[in-house]
Amino acid sequence: MDTHNVVALPVVSRVAVCGGTHGNELSGVYLVRERLKRREDGTEPVSVVTLMSNPRAVQLCVRYVETDLNRCFTRAALSAPVSEDSPYEMIRSRELNALLGPKGSVQAVDLLCDLHNTTANTGLCLITHSDCDWIALHICKHLQREMSSTPVRYVHFDLPLDEAYSLDSVGKHGFAMEVGPQPHGLVRSGIFSAMQEGVQLMLDWIWQFNSGTLFEGGSVDIFTMVKNIDYPRDPQTHMITAAVHPDLQDRDFCLLHPGEPMFLSFSGETLRYRGKEALYPFFINEAAYYEKGVALSLARKRRVEIPSVRSDTQR
Ligand SMILES: [Zn+2]
Repeated sequence: MDTHNVVALPVVSRVAVCGGTHGNELSGVYLVRERLKRREDGTEPVSVVTLMSNPRAVQLCVRYVETDLNRCFTRAALSAPVSEDSPYEMIRSRELNALLGPKGSVQAVDLLCDLHNTTANTGLCLITHSDCDWIALHICKHLQREMSSTPVRYVHFDLPLDEAYSLDSVGKHGFAMEVGPQPHGLVRSGIFSAMQEGVQLMLDWIWQFNSGTLFEGGSVDIFTMVKNIDYPRDPQTHMITAAVHPDLQDRDFCLLHPGEPMFLSFSGETLRYRGKEALYPFFINEAAYYEKGVALSLARKRRVEIPSVRSDTQR
């Protein structure tokens, strides 16, 4: 192979696996508990910090106690003054940033994997703010190759690091590992197993990478978030007046064309997608997004070429 096209990257020696960032997304909560039970057995070839991000929300089995922890990691939010009266999650975000970051610094963990569940039929998604993170893209490719029963996709929220609001943005590399469908407040075995397999495959890849294995490049499809669509609402009461159309429900990452059904109103009227461009819907009917005014998100898909990589210990 043409070795001058190989990108040498620093080893990924410090990894963080976080769960319970949203306290009612239970696959990550139980996966973290399992990992904490056996964390000292030294069988893992990579140094992994495992932690429960929002223990109070986990205890109450709610998404958050006072404010959404996974929106607290922008540069501005992390540097805003806090007091004893600040929301619990604002204070907790500082602790996590001190423990795993600081965000954007050389001390930050090399890779942060934050475990989430969605009620939407997404399969396993790696969600990140970067579309040129070769480590995250190679891990995605590895999962796509190795996971037979779960579709794996790379989802990109196009935000500069300072504006990236999620916990995973604290690591040098990072992503949310979002697995669905699973209702909040319960755990489904198949979804838990997919997440467990995803984490194990990620750690296997990192260990091989750190050991000097060369990973060949190739192409990866990236879904870049374009916009959110809210439910139709009553202009006076702001109550929703329609549900996601049955033809669209559970069809995450299936191309949606202009004119295709999007909502079915409570009076029986089909409301269609009025955009000009066919796009890929995802997070369709996510339970936690009713409060955020999001019925679904739409993404554009493109195929990117990624270079071959190996760790720079081999030079
Ligand atoms: Zn979540």
